[in-house]
Amino acid sequence: MNHLGFKLDSIKIGSFDFTCCEGCQLQLANRESSLPDFLALLDIRNFREISSERHDDYDIALVEGSITRSDEIRRLKTIRQKAKVLVAYGSCACFGGVNSRKNPIPQEELIREVYGDKHIETMPSMRIADFVQVDYSIPGCPVSKKEVEQIVVGLVTRSLVSLPRFPVCVECKQRLNTCLFDLGEICLGPVTRAGCDAVCPSGKTPCLGCRGPADDINFPAFSQLVHEQGLSTEEMREKLAFYNGFTDYHDHEG
Ligand code: SF4
Ligand code: SF4
Ligand code: SF4
Repeated sequence: MNHLGFKLDSIKIGSFDFTCCEGCQLQLANRESSLPDFLALLDIRNFREISSERHDDYDIALVEGSITRSDEIRRLKTIRQKAKVLVAYGSCACFGGVNSRKNPIPQEELIREVYGDKHIETMPSMRIADFVQVDYSIPGCPVSKKEVEQIVVGLVTRSLVSLPRFPVCVECKQRLNTCLFDLGEICLGPVTRAGCDAVCPSGKTPCLGCRGPADDINFPAFSQLVHEQGLSTEEMREKLAFYNGFTDYHDHEG
């Protein structure tokens, strides 16, 4: 029995998707090299991408996607009631994600543009934590499978696993990349939580902040850097808004 009251050989787990592309669930189903060991630890009760079985009893609920309809709120609350531990995974679940790009646009206008005269219920994209208690959050678009496995295995085996506290720039420097600011680009690496091995700047693409803010970021210094480099504050704000992870920061003038 572990500290959460689980028997080690029978951790029941469910993965549930809300408004999203299901890319995070697919990440978990990928990487066959580690999949058998991961699955051997767990009793999969509900996981659409992996199994056709459906059961309503689970200890850990992995929740992917954001909330954009009232029926999703009801379903999410039922999942929360059944699970001992609820993990929000992916930027949609943690922040509202790319779905939040629609939030500033009047919803009636959006529906008319996309669906014409059809009656479609939708509301601004909200985080899982806006409706239920979230015990762990694992950001990323998509998530790092390794990180999700480490955290789930940590829950099962009582080892504490936490997300990196430092920003993407640390991993980027470790990879000896040329900084994209030196090439006239705005990169969110200085303010974004590491853990992705700086995959975007390593491919010469600026970080868009899918993992949300790192701990103790110096946002005024970041904003000042953008100004000093003569780069556009408006572009900086657009990038900060992309995954909706910086709502506490993107209006900061620095
Ligand atoms: S976080 Fe990204 S990959 Fe994951 S479900 Fe949302 S859009 Fe898809
Ligand atoms: S490219 Fe981006 S992540 Fe890399 S050092 Fe520069 S600001 Fe940081
Ligand atoms: S570099 Fe930035 S946008 Fe790219 S995966 Fe990492 S955190 Fe996400």
